[in-house]
Amino acid sequence: MQDLVHKEGYPYAFDASACAACGGRCCTGESGNIFVTYQEIRALALFLGLSDDDFKERYLEKRGYKYSLKEKLVDESYDCIFYDRTHNGCSVYKARPLQCRAFPFWDHYKTRVDELKQECPGIIDA
Ligand code: SF4
Ligand code: SF4
Repeated sequence: MQDLVHKEGYPYAFDASACAACGGRCCTGESGNIFVTYQEIRALALFLGLSDDDFKERYLEKRGYKYSLKEKLVDESYDCIFYDRTHNGCSVYKARPLQCRAFPFWDHYKTRVDELKQECPGIIDA
């Protein structure tokens, strides 16, 4: 059954039922950035029972003046450090950053629906 999500201003809808069979394409594949704010760092560190400094050391890297989640190279895929291939999902789901929560409704994709469709099989023309 389709579980369609619409968002005002976006020329597409998202079928969340596609995630089950997708294999986390938005969390793996090409190298990218998942930026985190200080509040999100705090929330993730708390979720994992770490101090902010330990969390930064283990899981973040500086990209310019921002922090992004580290990646791990698996076969030829740059997986997010928190992507769990065994369970096919995010290991910090409840504390995942806003950038992840907002996907696939990113401003970048408003005018790049074809590019988004290549990445996410849940995209449907609105
Ligand atoms: S790429 Fe799309 S369908 Fe696949 S897990 Fe991410 S949001 Fe779900
Ligand atoms: S934090 Fe979770 S949802 Fe976000 S990219 Fe990493 S594995 Fe995916």
